[in-house]
This record gives sequence, C-alpha cells and structure tokens, in this order.
Amino acid sequence: MGAVDDRDPGAQPSAAAPDAAAPDEPLVILGAGLTGLSTALHHRGAAIVVEREHRVGGKAASDRREGFTFDITGHWLHLRQARTRSLVHDLFAPGDLVEIERRTGVYSHGTMLPYPFQANLFGLPLPVVHECLVGLFEAHRRGDPLPERASLQQFAEHRFGAGIARHFFVPYNTKLWGVAPDRLSSAWVTRYIPVPEPAQILAGAIGMVQEGIGYNARFLYPRAGGIDHLATAMAARLVARDASALRLGTEVGAIDSARRVVECGGRAQRYRRLISTLPLPELIDRIVDAPPEVREARAALQWIRWRYLNVATRTPTPRPEHWIYVPEPQLPFFRVGSFSNASPAMAPPGCGALYVELTDRERAPDEPAIVAALAAMGAITSPGDVRFVEQRDIEYAYVVFDDAHAGATATIHAWLATRGIRSCGRYGAWVYSAMEDALLDGMEAAAWAEA
Ligand SMILES: Cc1cc2nc3c(=O)[nH]c(=O)nc-3n(C[C@H](O)[C@H](O)[C@H](O)COP(=O)(O)OP(=O)(O)OC[C@H]3O[C@@H](n4cnc5c(N)ncnc54)[C@H](O)[C@@H]3O)c2cc1C
Repeated sequence: MGAVDDRDPGAQPSAAAPDAAAPDEPLVILGAGLTGLSTALHHRGAAIVVEREHRVGGKAASDRREGFTFDITGHWLHLRQARTRSLVHDLFAPGDLVEIERRTGVYSHGTMLPYPFQANLFGLPLPVVHECLVGLFEAHRRGDPLPERASLQQFAEHRFGAGIARHFFVPYNTKLWGVAPDRLSSAWVTRYIPVPEPAQILAGAIGMVQEGIGYNARFLYPRAGGIDHLATAMAARLVARDASALRLGTEVGAIDSARRVVECGGRAQRYRRLISTLPLPELIDRIVDAPPEVREARAALQWIRWRYLNVATRTPTPRPEHWIYVPEPQLPFFRVGSFSNASPAMAPPGCGALYVELTDRERAPDEPAIVAALAAMGAITSPGDVRFVEQRDIEYAYVVFDDAHAGATATIHAWLATRGIRSCGRYGAWVYSAMEDALLDGMEAAAWAEA
C-alpha cells in the first residue's frame, strides 16, 4: 500500500479501533454503478467515488457501435416506490423518460406464448396443456405447505404443479443458472415470479390471454436510447456539486480496515467510513486484515457468469416483443431481447438491436448456429440480415442462492460492520436485486454514513 493521501499530510495511521478515524476524513464509495452514485448524491458531507472504468453505470452502462446502442442485456427500469420515482423523474427533462407497456413472450414447443408461461398455456400441444393442468389440480388437491427452505423447483411444483415446473421452470432456470433448480434456494428470486390464481391459469389454458401479470407490466426507458442516461445524469449532478467527487479509471487496491486506508489508483486514501459496491468476494480479497472466519465465508460465495451477444440487424426486429424467454433445452440461449423495440433510438433508422443471453458461458459461441436459431424462431428476419454480432461476458452476473449463502453473507456483513465498512448494492450485499433497489440501497447507505 502506498503513502497516506497527501491532502492530509499530518495523518498517522490510527490504531485498530474502528471508530477512531477523524471525522473530517471523507466517506469513500467504491464503485460508480447506480448504488455508488445514489449513495454519493444522497450523502450530505464530503464523499469520493472511486471507479475502475472510465465511465459510470456499472451493469447499467451502455455500449455503442456504428449507431447501435446495447445495454448490458435488457435493463428495463421498474420503479415501485415514490421516492425512487421522484429521484429519477427529477434527473430527466419532461418527456425524456418514456413509460412503456411490457411486451414479453415465451417460446416453447415451437410456439410463441404470451408471458408468463403458467398463465398462458393455450397454443401448446394438447398433451402438454393437459399435463400442466393435471399437475396444477394435484398440487392444489394436496394443499401441503411450502417447505421452509424450499428449492426453486419445490417452489414451482408447489405453486404451479409438476407439469408447469417440468415444461418451463426447470428447463428455463437450468439454462439461466447453469445449475439444476432443485439445488437452488427459492429465497430472493421468487419475488420476481408471478403467481397467478388457478382461475387465471385455467383461463389462459383455454385461450383467454392473461396480460399484465407480474411485477414488471410497465417499465421506464430513456427516450434518447441507452439505460446509461440514468447513471450519467446522476454523475453530472454529482460533479456539478463537487468536481473532484468522481474518480474514474481508478482501480481499488488493498484495504487496511484497522487503519482505515484504501488504495485507490495506487495511492493511499484515508476514509471515515467506507461504502463498497464491489462484488463481495472482491472486497474481502482486498481487505488485508480480514480474519480467517471471514475469508472462509468468502470462499463459500458462489456466482454465475453471463455470456451474451449483441446483434445488429439491417432491418427492424420482426417480432414485437421486448424480450422472449426460451426454455427449450435444444436452443443455445435462454432469453432474447430487442432494444430497438423499446426505443427506436437504439438502432439507426430501419435497423434492429438485440441481445441474446447464452446458456453456455465456457465455450466460444457457435454464432452461425445461434443466428440460424434466432431466424427459425422469428426473432430476426434471416441470417443474412445480421450486420454484426459481438460477444460480451459479465464475470459477476447472478449470485447463487445455495445452502451456504445465508450463513456466509451474515458472517461477512457482521464483521464489516465492526470495521466501519458497509457493502451494499446487488453485488456488495450479494443478493438478487434490480436498479430500483440500487437507488434505494444508496439512500440507505448515505443515511448510515451520516449516522
Ligand atoms: C444481465 C443483467 C440484467 C439485468 N437486468 C435488469 C433489469 O432489466 N432491470 C433492473 O432493474 N435491473 C436489472 N439488473 C440489475 C442491475 O443491473 C443491478 O441491480 C444494478 O445495476 C446494480 O448496481 P450496483 O451499483 O449495485 O453494482 P454495479 O453496477 O456492478 O456497480 C459496481 C461498480 O464497481 C466497479 N468496480 C468493480 N470492481 C472495482 C475495482 N476493483 N475498483 C474500482 N471499481 C470497481 C464496477 O466497474 C462498477 O461500476 C440486471 C443485471 C444483470 C447482470
């Protein structure tokens, strides 16, 4: 670790007492994703945001090429709370944020169904519909309670029956998580799974389309194209308040939690309190004085990588959906989305911009086969319509909720709290959450820092 920040030349490393830091040292925020930016905007004292990339936004950033804009796969903004709505609407000029009615589908057994699968069985082969309905009746007839630590598969079988679990939840989640859903806890993720009433499931099975079900029936999106407009608007506001608050292109290095010093871009920075939005394993790996039980807990944390393709097409996306779930095991992707269906600004006039989330994150993707499969399901006009394809990887995409998750995260967060460190946001807290949660986490973290 380098010398202590020369803006405070007289500072001596403090003794181990975690609350011994001088109050005039700044709050240091690691990461300029939505959580870090929200923390900084809501904090009333001196704060520094340290970001490795040369741009803000983290997972909510956008990539641009040849007039096409691609978010890091679908990033649709759902705001349920008044305080996040007020924050976000205040950042955009009137009309610059558009509210869009979700159009989603499920491609199953060669048919495009409206989302969600469990409420729109009509159109599937009759034996499949029959199996799904029998499973639903049996699950209701049994009426047994959901086991306390239910796996994702148990949750699906309990709520919807064995047929719906077999034809959608198991294959879709196996493709998404890369792990059989009987090995995944249902904690956290089930909040996003719509649970229609049995009467709705029956109506959907006889062709009465069930629309608007689920937490995300409408979403917000920047009119100009690119979810990064949210983060850049937050960063602009922050920099207008304090030009030195944001340090881009600055990698976080070692952290000495006893001395309250963090290495930022090779220089040592003292802090009063530290808020980290880095993935939790990355934070622990950097803390030089983390005790063995914390390192052991860190070793238990599991996550999955993401591999996806940005696809640019010469003509518009032929299907109307914003995104489509693909449970079919033989297809090499589990979700396909069209950015340009949400905002025409995402592609040059008359063109299409899509993302394709791949099941296999290890081997190089077979692009011709993937493009052919997209054309076969109608997601693109034809393979020849593709202008370019680019592969992207996300190292930390989804936290895995296995049996070790709850205990390991509790151990780590409890210890961090004793050191004046708060680890928050989707990857800092090590949970499954959305952009709205990131904004809320930032508000709470700012309040904690001031307390
Ligand atoms: C594939 C995918 C799709 C999603 N879709 C949606 C959606 O449709 N709707 C929705 O609401 N949410 C969605 N989310 C969730 C959303 O992206 C997150 O909840 C939110 O962006 C998390 O923000 P964050 O600031 O907590 O973390 P991050 O965005 O990960 O920010 C952390 C920041 O820390 C920086 N950093 C990391 N290491 C270092 C280091 N060593 N030094 C310095 N800086 C570092 C990173 O560069 C990054 O900027 C999706 C997430 C994924 C992965």
